[in-house]
Amino acid sequence: MKEPPPPPAPLAVPVLDAHTHLDMVDGDPRDAIAAAAAVGVTRLVQVGTDVESSRWSADLAQTEPAVVATVALHPNDAPRLADLDEALRVIEELARQPRVRGIGETGLDHFRTGEAGRAAQERSFRAHIQFAKDTGKALVIHDRDAHADVLRVLDEEGAPDTVVLHCFSGDEAFAVECVKRGYLLSFAGTVTFTNAPNLREAAKVTPLDQLLVETDAPFLTPMPHRGRPNAPYLIPLTVRALATVKEVDLDELCAGIAATGERAFGSWRA
Ligand SMILES: [Zn+2]
Repeated sequence: MKEPPPPPAPLAVPVLDAHTHLDMVDGDPRDAIAAAAAVGVTRLVQVGTDVESSRWSADLAQTEPAVVATVALHPNDAPRLADLDEALRVIEELARQPRVRGIGETGLDHFRTGEAGRAAQERSFRAHIQFAKDTGKALVIHDRDAHADVLRVLDEEGAPDTVVLHCFSGDEAFAVECVKRGYLLSFAGTVTFTNAPNLREAAKVTPLDQLLVETDAPFLTPMPHRGRPNAPYLIPLTVRALATVKEVDLDELCAGIAATGERAFGSWRA
């Protein structure tokens, strides 16, 4: 296993990690939470991807004040489930818990799911959109190679009040389209990758009140540590890269991201 990267310099103004999978990060989740807090990443959104991890996320949010949860069936899992309806029923029930603040990650993935699985994937996405509208909670979207279809399904169902595009992967034109609709764009470590100038163009046109930052840990470790394990304490690397790209003051950017996070997911104190 590769060594975890060293901690970056702490942020002066605290931010959140808007999308993390502590259930997949090595070690005790409380250590990951403490390491993040030590560098100014004081709030985490723990994201479920199936019934088991959604339950785990909801439980963690009840015991850890720094954590709120989201619950969902991942778009690549939905088509493989023996009983999709029963799994959706459990997610709907978990979604009502007060420390569960979002429905996700759900959405469409045309990269990993082939034609045969697409009908079930879309049906699952539509059900999650409905849960977000019923509960008034944020919809957290996974969109891989499916930008146009994600927008189409949102238009057909009617989008919930808060829509977060997790690990935003579009270009400037798609970013403009999402901004126009009032969606929130969450940038991951990919925005720091040398081969991703399109993501930096997208970040440039995203206003501060629609911008979030995330690790998607343990995946997508930001530069200069690409390929090593990711965890929430590495958020400062992505935030600093975004400040450079957007030519804004780092503290101002952090304050904006923190405020957008609370608008999307509610207060961590409640
Ligand atoms: Zn994720």
